[in-house]
Amino acid sequence: MPDSFTAYGENTRAVHIPKPAPPEQEPLGLPVYRTAAFAFSTAREYSDILGDRAPGYTYSRVDNPTAAAFAAAVAQLESVGVGAEVTGQPFASGMAAITTVLMTLTRAGAHVVAPCELYGGTYSALANLLPRFGVETDFVPVSDLDAVRAAIRPETALIWGETLANPTMTVADLPALADIAHGAGVPLVVDSTFASPAVCRPLEYGVDLVMHSATKYIGGHSDVTGGVVVGSPELVGRVRATRIDLGGSLAPDEAFLLHRGLATLPLRMARHCANAQAFAEGMAAHPRVTRVDYPGLPTHRDHALAGKLFEPGRYGAVVTITPAGGRDAGEALCDALRLVRIATSLGGTHSKVSHIAGTTHRQLDDAALCAAGIDPGAVRVSIGLEDPEDLVADVSQALESIG
Ligand SMILES: *Cc1c(COP(=O)(O)O)cnc(C)c1O
Repeated sequence: MPDSFTAYGENTRAVHIPKPAPPEQEPLGLPVYRTAAFAFSTAREYSDILGDRAPGYTYSRVDNPTAAAFAAAVAQLESVGVGAEVTGQPFASGMAAITTVLMTLTRAGAHVVAPCELYGGTYSALANLLPRFGVETDFVPVSDLDAVRAAIRPETALIWGETLANPTMTVADLPALADIAHGAGVPLVVDSTFASPAVCRPLEYGVDLVMHSATKYIGGHSDVTGGVVVGSPELVGRVRATRIDLGGSLAPDEAFLLHRGLATLPLRMARHCANAQAFAEGMAAHPRVTRVDYPGLPTHRDHALAGKLFEPGRYGAVVTITPAGGRDAGEALCDALRLVRIATSLGGTHSKVSHIAGTTHRQLDDAALCAAGIDPGAVRVSIGLEDPEDLVADVSQALESIG
């Protein structure tokens, strides 16, 4: 072996260009470790890390420092007031997080209790995917705690909940659901995407695992997809093992963007929520709106519960409004908007609208929608960071133009 770099052949030199040592000074930005593989000093080091006998990195599907830093940061934010260690795991999407948690906590023959008002992807995983592996789900109205209790069976493996559920913005009674779950000896898992840790920290109320689609408020700019799960090291360690098998691991560049989003999460959420409150109040006063679903309004069924569980004055930033005139009015309202965009997803800087009956709840006919408490004309508005007067003015002009 030549002992100087220049003695190597051209191709060897190109492949093995020496890298500078890491900087002495701590970078304030999060370094992006854009690498699939890591190198070791000895064969034993490699096998010890891979065997979880020593800490470290081997391969980025297993763990990546940038992705791990993102999940650890969310765990820090969610751990306030918990009084026990909280760790996190990063995922390529919210659905990767959800399916990984479900595959961790269930086995053939297991049973799940989940809300009927549920994110469509979670519903599909529970109703279509898991039954193929022998896992059954009962969908119950989670506001009816007796119905939740009654649904529990000896094979129940977990209770699923959503802190704030689309589209009627139902608030889960997290302490009561945690009591029911723990009484049955099973974990309570909560999808807290619509809240984010700047509105609610479910672990404080006894929830065992919290997951987020980081694509929404945590990323905050509609330019990155990701997910995260936080909870006790024991449970989260089991989730990590399943993630490694299923492979829904978060890429380092996406992790960088999601981590950067956390720095402004409280600022953005405070503004999203204040805008949503002003928008909901403006819509509640509009003569062509028959109903507004937003827990910040005293008329919402869960207003008092949200006041107990959420950060003061923050009720989330998704508002469902129902224009007079049924299904057609909902579509026409979306089409008449000039500022608010017709778009999927939520939680970004731009306000977005979707006609519920035609999009997120398209599988339900008018009768099924009404049974679920959803008017066929209802539209969901994800309130962004624009000036709230402009949002109220845009929706008002649209309501007037279709009236
Ligand atoms: C978007 C969303 C998900 C799924 O997350 P992806 O990042 O799109 O995979 C899960 N739960 C809720 C409540 C969501 O809004």
